Amino acid sequence: MNSKEYQNILNICKENETQLVAVSKTKPNKDILELYQEGQRVFGENRVQELVQKHEQLPKDIKWHFIGHLQKNKVKYIASFVQLIHAVDSLSLLKEINKKAIQNNRTIKCLIQFHIAKEDSKFGLQVEDIDIFFPKTKEFKNVEIIGLMGMATFTNNEKQVNNEFKLLKNLFNKIKENYFKEQVSFKEISMGMSGDYKIAIQNGSTMVRVGSAIFGTR
Ligand SMILES: *Cc1c(COP(=O)(O)O)cnc(C)c1O
Repeated sequence: MNSKEYQNILNICKENETQLVAVSKTKPNKDILELYQEGQRVFGENRVQELVQKHEQLPKDIKWHFIGHLQKNKVKYIASFVQLIHAVDSLSLLKEINKKAIQNNRTIKCLIQFHIAKEDSKFGLQVEDIDIFFPKTKEFKNVEIIGLMGMATFTNNEKQVNNEFKLLKNLFNKIKENYFKEQVSFKEISMGMSGDYKIAIQNGSTMVRVGSAIFGTR
């Protein structure tokens, strides 16, 4: 764990009122505990089984975010404790999250993932889906949609990354105006990772998901 780099990133986040999600996937509990000792409480994981184990073994005041692609049949394993699901991109997944939230007598916060990258291997809604998707989310009373999430293209082309984050910010503004105007909690834009979190913050990110810059390469 790179304590100095962690404090550096944390300071940048604090100055910009951005939340730092420490992405601890593949990293052992001892690494997570080291960061916990520095005060970090929000951690992100992208595998259900790994998340469930870490939740069981680590301090109970850790806020666990699920940041990866979530399969419907696995929602049940994390529904009782997950703090935020970052990458919802279908109504059927949202419906399942709602169902498991009801069974656990709670509301589960979610972000809707948009496809903003040039690469076609990534998940997420397209711009054209907006007016079909969002009107239908209102029936899921135990799901609280608090914003959007996106991943930029994996490239050194900063201008391209900048444009992709700008696109997500614009989509956020439009969706807020059209579908969440009355909902104060719809305010999050989860964008930015180790390689591009600074560009993301410049474009209005409220949550960065940073792994390797803090924990070292995986
Ligand atoms: C792994 C991962 C991250 C963190 O990536 P780093 O480059 O290690 O910071 C962020 N978001 C998602 C969705 C991830 O899967």
